Amino acid sequence: MNITKLKQLSYDEVVKCNKCGFCLPSCPVYLVEKKESAAPRGRNAITRAVIEGRLEMSHDTEKAIFSCLGCGACKQACLSSVETKELIFRDRECQVSQGLYPKIADRVRAFLREEHNITDDDNEERAQWQEMIRDLPEGALEKDRAEVIFFVGCVASFFPMAQKIPVNMSRILLQAGVDFSILGGEEWCCGFPLIGAGMPDEMRELKEHNIEKVKEVGAKAVVFTCPSCYHTWKHLYQVDGVELYHSSQFLDQLIQEGKIKLKGKEIKVTYHDPCDLGRNSGVYEEPRNVLKAIPGLTLVELPHNRQLSMCCGGGGNVEMVNPDLSAAVAQMKIDEIKSTGADMVVSACQQCLRTIATRARKQKIDLAVKDLTELVAEAMQ
Ligand code: SF4
Ligand code: SF4
Repeated sequence: MNITKLKQLSYDEVVKCNKCGFCLPSCPVYLVEKKESAAPRGRNAITRAVIEGRLEMSHDTEKAIFSCLGCGACKQACLSSVETKELIFRDRECQVSQGLYPKIADRVRAFLREEHNITDDDNEERAQWQEMIRDLPEGALEKDRAEVIFFVGCVASFFPMAQKIPVNMSRILLQAGVDFSILGGEEWCCGFPLIGAGMPDEMRELKEHNIEKVKEVGAKAVVFTCPSCYHTWKHLYQVDGVELYHSSQFLDQLIQEGKIKLKGKEIKVTYHDPCDLGRNSGVYEEPRNVLKAIPGLTLVELPHNRQLSMCCGGGGNVEMVNPDLSAAVAQMKIDEIKSTGADMVVSACQQCLRTIATRARKQKIDLAVKDLTELVAEAMQ
């Protein structure tokens, strides 16, 4: 993306920013860094100045542009609904074309080219978490034909802290009698990290491969426990004749159909809306429906919930580029969770789970963090 192209795509949008600053209190990065270049308004000013030729892209603009979490909270607060996140992600493409980007992204790009996952593990080991399911018959989750594909995602496949998510989701689907399969070593990263890295053109091969594999299995639906995979498929993959569901939507449906029966659990929980599920995909009620279907469970809302939810700090590749910033945002999230007096925070995203739980552990904060699938699996009769 060069400046001319950036101007064509972004100028009409960025001039809508009237510099009012209403977005500032909503931006977690601004709340941590307290400087204009970390604010949506400041980033919009950078974009406009670059397009108008008043500012050259540099390592300073790189810092501002690559510290955005992609959470979308700024648009929600903006009376003009300026698409700041989209503007920033386009800026990233432009920064990349000028060689001004965090070089750690080159490693991720190489991993995705070579192993098709973000951790550089042997992709054949993608489904090793299956070993944690007791008495699972050989090949029960990797079938040639199935109605539904469970797309696991890189983080839940390879990060030990998140592997219980596919374990629990598979247990639930098996018990509910769903005809499903995973893709195992044939599941490739959805390409989402490349969007945050400013390299979206690199995801074509990943996208085509994943679509082809789903078609080979003859699946009519794909279900995702990762909101970012779900969002990427929903908005950037073109798949006709295949329904896409986030796990919260799928579980809500199974509960309504009576295929999942839940037993009582006396517990007070709060729910954290993941950015890519809530604000960026519009899924707010289904995870709450699932929680409310657990008898005895009391749901207390966070002060910032639904459209106003505050990011956990795990978005936009910021954890990779600036881990201290990511951790500081996670701390704000934990403080907000603690203010509710809930016994536990539940989310529906492996990255939220990792970000919040890791910060809590490092700071020795007593906080139970669970994915929705874990709570449901525990409550199943
Ligand atoms: S992005 Fe919207 S809320 Fe923020 S300064 Fe610009 S116009 Fe105001
Ligand atoms: S997307 Fe989130 S982190 Fe990025 S500028 Fe907007 S509010 Fe700030």
